[in-house]
Amino acid sequence: MRWLTRVPCLLADLVLPGGCCACGAWLTTAEGPWCTECALAMGRASQQFYCPRCGLTTDEPAGAADGCPRCVEHRIAFDGFCRVGEYDGLLRQLICKFKFGRCQQLDRPLGRFLAVAVGTRSWACEVEAIVPVPLSWRSRLAYRFSPPRALAQELGRELKLPVLPLLYEKGKRRRQVGLTADERRQNVHGVFRLARGARPAGGIFCMVDDVSTTGATLQEVARVLKQAGATRVYAAVLAKTNPERAHALQA
Ligand SMILES: [Zn+2]
Ligand SMILES: [Zn+2]
Repeated sequence: MRWLTRVPCLLADLVLPGGCCACGAWLTTAEGPWCTECALAMGRASQQFYCPRCGLTTDEPAGAADGCPRCVEHRIAFDGFCRVGEYDGLLRQLICKFKFGRCQQLDRPLGRFLAVAVGTRSWACEVEAIVPVPLSWRSRLAYRFSPPRALAQELGRELKLPVLPLLYEKGKRRRQVGLTADERRQNVHGVFRLARGARPAGGIFCMVDDVSTTGATLQEVARVLKQAGATRVYAAVLAKTNPERAHALQA
């Protein structure tokens, strides 16, 4: 039923070529790419507090680098987390349109939001290169492009940093959707390999993905990069799933 999600995107582009890239409303100024309402909604989405270690939403600013009560006991392979917002509302709608609706042109506005979010992190200035989370050829075929790679390119352009596809996905794995946290960890374990000629030793990287649910994929990418000698690895995603909300939706 993926074509169904593509129809509104195509219609919006066809009927309203200069419209808001989120809702398709006609833009009265050339500033774009958002109408005022969507810009405000995205602004609100990006203002939630979150844990700088695991990315989960918190009630107050969680300044401590050692994390929130939900992650303090867990080992995390990456050194810091950055997100635009929670996987909900308009942000979720846009990500679905970007990925499943194959609206690749959303890479620029979404990439800009990601760049602003990364710019607020204390570690942003030490990142030397952007690394997209690898995607299997099956997923690339389904989306017709690689959403993490498209976002990484935009982030690299905004931050004036090189984009290095240091890893690729080797071997089969199931889709992560519908798996428990343990199953997700097992599912991604060992599936990423260093690309030919990749030399991450001594480097400081920022991995990019569109959505993080349990963080299993990011953990695995960071683990492989660190095993290959990377000094520090940070994670940047558009959205982080709220496990409580995901539970409520499933219930
Ligand atoms: Zn709009
Ligand atoms: Zn945390």
